[in-house]
Amino acid sequence: MVHNKLNDEQLLRYSSNILMKEIGEAGQQRLLKSHVLIIGLGGLGCPASQYLASSGVGQLTLVDHDTVSLSNLQRQTLYSVTNIGLHKAKQAADCLLRSNPDINVTAVTEKASQQNLETLVAAADLVLDCTDNRKTRYLINQSCYRLKTPLISAAARGFNGQLIALNPEHDHGCYQCLYPDSVTEPLNCSNAGIAAPVVGIIGASQALNAINYLTLDTITPNALTIDKLPWGYLQSFNGLTQHWQTLYLPRDTSCPVCGGEHAH
Ligand SMILES: [Zn+2]
Repeated sequence: MVHNKLNDEQLLRYSSNILMKEIGEAGQQRLLKSHVLIIGLGGLGCPASQYLASSGVGQLTLVDHDTVSLSNLQRQTLYSVTNIGLHKAKQAADCLLRSNPDINVTAVTEKASQQNLETLVAAADLVLDCTDNRKTRYLINQSCYRLKTPLISAAARGFNGQLIALNPEHDHGCYQCLYPDSVTEPLNCSNAGIAAPVVGIIGASQALNAINYLTLDTITPNALTIDKLPWGYLQSFNGLTQHWQTLYLPRDTSCPVCGGEHAH
C-alpha cells in the first residue's frame, strides 16, 4: 500500500502511537486515511470520539439530533455549561477539532433513520453504535449488514456496560440475533441511572477496538487473516466487581438480518 508521508507536526503529535510496533508509522497513516461513523454523542460517544480524534482517525462523522442538557454533564465529557441547549454533534465536533485540527470532523444533527444511515454507513470504514435506544440499534445493524461494514455496538446502564464487535463478513450472530424484536427494551441511562466512569470505560473500549481494527494489517502487510478483534464476542463489564465476562454470540439461522438465505 502506498502511503503519504507524515509531516513533522504529525510525527510529533502521533509519536506515542508511532513508537509502538503494533501501530508504527504505517498504522498511523492508515488511521489518518480512515473514516469512522459515530452514531450517538452521549456518554459512550464522547470518550469514543475523543480517543479516535486524538489518535488521528482522519475523518469522523458524528450523528446526533439531541441537544446538550444539564443532566448530561455528569458523564458527557465533551460538553460544558455554555453548550446547554446546543446540538451535541456540532459541539462535539468543535471540541474535538480544538484538540486536533489535523483531522476532519463532520457533524450531522439529524436523527439516524433508515434513509440517512444508508448513505452515512456506505461512506464509512467502520461504524460505532453509541446510541441509547434499541430501535436505532436495529436500523444501524441492518444497514451495516446490508453494506458489509463492521460495527462496534455498545450499551451501558447502572454499573454495567457491554460491547460487541460485529463483522458482517464473519459467521457469528448480529445485534438482531442478540436481541430479537420480541425482547422488551431495557431501561436506558436517562431512566435507570448510570455510573459515569462505566460509560467512559465502555466508550474507550469501543475506540480501542476501532484503532485495532483500522491498524490491523500493518505488522504483516496484506496478512488480513491476523485478527486482533474478538469478533462476535459479547464483552460485559460489571463496574461493581470490575470483572469482564466474554460470551460468543452464535448466528441465529432464522435471523432476518444475518441468517443466510433468510436475510433480506
Ligand atoms: Zn442476526
